[in-house]
Amino acid sequence: MWVGWARCARRVVRHDVKAPRRLLSTQTPQADLLSKTTRNIGIVAHIDAGKTTTTERMLYYSGYTRRIGDVDEGSTVTDFLPAERARGITIQSAAITFHWPPQEPGANPPPAPASFESIAPSSIPHNVNLIDTPGHADFTFEVLRSLRVLDGAVCILDGVAGVEAQTEKVWTQAGNYQIPRIIFVNKLDRVGAAFSRTVKEIGVRLHGWPAICQIPWWKGGNGDFVGVGDVVNLRGMLWQSGGDGRDIRAYGLEELDKTDAKFAEEIRKARVALVETLSEHDDVMVESFLEHDEDHLAIPALHIWQSLRRVTLQSSQAVIPVFAGASFRNVGIQPLLDATVDLLPSPLERPDPEISISGQSSTLSTLLNASANAKPAKSTKKSQQSKDLATPEVKNLAACALAFKVVNDTKRGVLVYVRVYSGSLDKGAMLYNTNLGVAERAPRLLKMYANDAVEVDSIGPGQIGVITGLKHARTGDTLIVYRGLQMRGTPAGGLNTLQLRPINVPPPVFFTSIEPHSLSEQKHIHESLAILLREDPSLHLSIDEESGQTHLAGMGDLHLEIARDRLLNDFKAKARIGKIEIGYRETITSVTSPYTYELDKPIAGKQAKATITASVEPIEDSMIIPGTQVETEIEDGPFETTFTLLDNNSLSISHPNLSRHDSASHKAHIPPHLSLPGILHSLQAGASAALARGPFNGFPVANTRVRIDLDADTQLFPDTTPAALSMATRAAVNASLRSAIAANAPSLMEPVMNATIFVHESSLGPVVQDISSARGGQVLSLDGSESIAASTSTEYLPRIDPNLIYTPPDPFANGTGDVGGELADSQRQIVARVPLKEMVGYLSHLRALTGGRGTFVMSVDGFEKMGTQRQKEVLDSMREF
Ligand code: GDP
Ligand code: MG
Repeated sequence: MWVGWARCARRVVRHDVKAPRRLLSTQTPQADLLSKTTRNIGIVAHIDAGKTTTTERMLYYSGYTRRIGDVDEGSTVTDFLPAERARGITIQSAAITFHWPPQEPGANPPPAPASFESIAPSSIPHNVNLIDTPGHADFTFEVLRSLRVLDGAVCILDGVAGVEAQTEKVWTQAGNYQIPRIIFVNKLDRVGAAFSRTVKEIGVRLHGWPAICQIPWWKGGNGDFVGVGDVVNLRGMLWQSGGDGRDIRAYGLEELDKTDAKFAEEIRKARVALVETLSEHDDVMVESFLEHDEDHLAIPALHIWQSLRRVTLQSSQAVIPVFAGASFRNVGIQPLLDATVDLLPSPLERPDPEISISGQSSTLSTLLNASANAKPAKSTKKSQQSKDLATPEVKNLAACALAFKVVNDTKRGVLVYVRVYSGSLDKGAMLYNTNLGVAERAPRLLKMYANDAVEVDSIGPGQIGVITGLKHARTGDTLIVYRGLQMRGTPAGGLNTLQLRPINVPPPVFFTSIEPHSLSEQKHIHESLAILLREDPSLHLSIDEESGQTHLAGMGDLHLEIARDRLLNDFKAKARIGKIEIGYRETITSVTSPYTYELDKPIAGKQAKATITASVEPIEDSMIIPGTQVETEIEDGPFETTFTLLDNNSLSISHPNLSRHDSASHKAHIPPHLSLPGILHSLQAGASAALARGPFNGFPVANTRVRIDLDADTQLFPDTTPAALSMATRAAVNASLRSAIAANAPSLMEPVMNATIFVHESSLGPVVQDISSARGGQVLSLDGSESIAASTSTEYLPRIDPNLIYTPPDPFANGTGDVGGELADSQRQIVARVPLKEMVGYLSHLRALTGGRGTFVMSVDGFEKMGTQRQKEVLDSMREF
């Protein structure tokens, strides 16, 4: 029997499906069917586990590419940046759409099945939007950003390396976003591949019960890896070696009994284990088991798939479906694609998207429903929250989408990848960007199929697509369509503040300087940098007005190295780029009295005037906690506004006589061309710019509160412009910072990392010794089993005894085969806080200490004030260059 994945869609009766509980009353049956047959999935893994290789195969089998791309040759579709191809790693997460099972190009979507309950979803073509995510720690932010728009994830493990540090980290993050996950154990063709050990590690380190859906098929029990045992459908699947992986032979158990009895027996054992695991977490499986006379093998495959789907979608996922293969040998990809469609959720099966509006957190459907049901007069306690959010203007909210990725494409210009959460984005629609407070039209919409883009008229709810021709939208911005909005208008009812779950941008800890070769190059460089920043908000830019020197800051040295390559090679910028250095912060230690700066000079050829009075003071809570790097506006009262700024700074503005709730009275105090929100934002921009470059050593200023007293009647003039206000603020804050450091010596703060280091028992001693003495680190915990997951997760994570997990034998396992024991004994984990400076180049050092076996991950834990001696050393070493 040949298994063909180009299955025809079954003939089914058209049937109007009832509108789902949310995602909009406006959803038509077609849109609803599209949602049900859509999967927005991501592939996550440690670097080199085989994400790119697997993705390429997926595109090939789904018919979107003619030949299989190869990462080692640099010809893959998803790694499309030259820098990525050169390094063979994936940096930018590209979203690509394809159909699985394949659909003839140009064919109409299949009619809706009578019921999704009686078929395997993979029997009809689905629209798969695949988001590739990078695996390197420097791009954690990229991963987080992608996770936010995923509905489900395929996690790829290297069958030799097992569960690696980065996998564990991303796995936990995905768990925190409640993203259902399945696992593909890859590279089973490699010498040393250990499926069983890897499965046990899944249990112990990823805290879930592995549900083994496939077992590896080794030729003759210990030869080449040739295929898989399909535990659900009870068959062996053999891939023809050397081919493109399309020729797959399936053998039933009776047939296998004659040719490879041991393998057939193992498939049966695995089936028993699978049914047992499912029964522990799914009552329906128990019923099915009883109905089939308690015969594990008699339960129909469809029941098993449905049970697997239910447990995968449980809100705190306890069971993890596991598949096996070797992408590079083209083994196992088609069934993995089936599993993706069969087990991972459609956009309709996801928790409601989180939002914030007017400073309150809620969910999108709460907002939509609250307003639909809002009865202005009466209110009960129960509907209190709904009532607060209720605003009649919600009826004008035609769509809500998130720009999750901005990419500068050499051919098509700037591409903004969006996920639509409600309504539809139509071509030509006016989009309001609630992060930037600007409106812009969406001239063209695209769907990205591998390297080809197809123009579309609209992007529906739950879908992922691309907008081209936008001038402002950045990665992470929320875009809404508000009916009747004019170009310079603002959505009413607080909808201008509506934001889909914002991501916290971690603080940058490395920087480099950029100097144009000539003045004429400056404009091109600034434009290129602006695009890089729209693409990647974890890059930060600061420009020193006096010297014209530009600093680019980022999350890691690789992060900046890539940015540098992009600037020099892709944008052909002619600039000298300095070496990559640690981004310290500087703080003031004294309070200043108010300083007034009067600006009265031409700006861009026009006379401009503004007066600003500012003072600064230190905020004494020593540590900058990362994850609070989003600037927000807080209303302290009608006459007072506070902005929280980067690096634990804040800006408090008092604006007597200007009530934020009585704009009619502003006329008497503000010149007609200005508005209170506009003025406040100009002051914020000026203060942020001054704080970005401190007067002590040019590092960003941290832990500082700026106060501005704005007396509208005496400080605003007919020729006061927003630019003049920003410049005057910047000058006033700068002068205040200078006088603060003149009064009392400032201090430096250094980034301190939270490092998790994995080593084998034998090298534990030397590694701990090195961290705590040579590197001045502080070891926080030493543990063999408590993992990163346990310390950072918000979920309840069960501890799983590896001896209770069924696994088929590993033919190449050495020793006793007691994998569980070996696992617990040998792997040790060290959690430590270490200054970043001491961790530069640590990987090669760790490798040397551990015979090449140690790995580590780290993230910023905070910034700490340095002792005088250490500060002096750092400053001296900087002057050497
Ligand atoms: P990524 O970093 O996760 O995107 O990993 P890649 O897809 O770039 O793969 C990393 C390396 O592993 C490449 O050299 C691949 O050829 C190799 N590789 C990927 N899958 C397999 C596999 O199934 N078997 C073997 N032997 N090598 C593989
Ligand atoms: Mg890759």
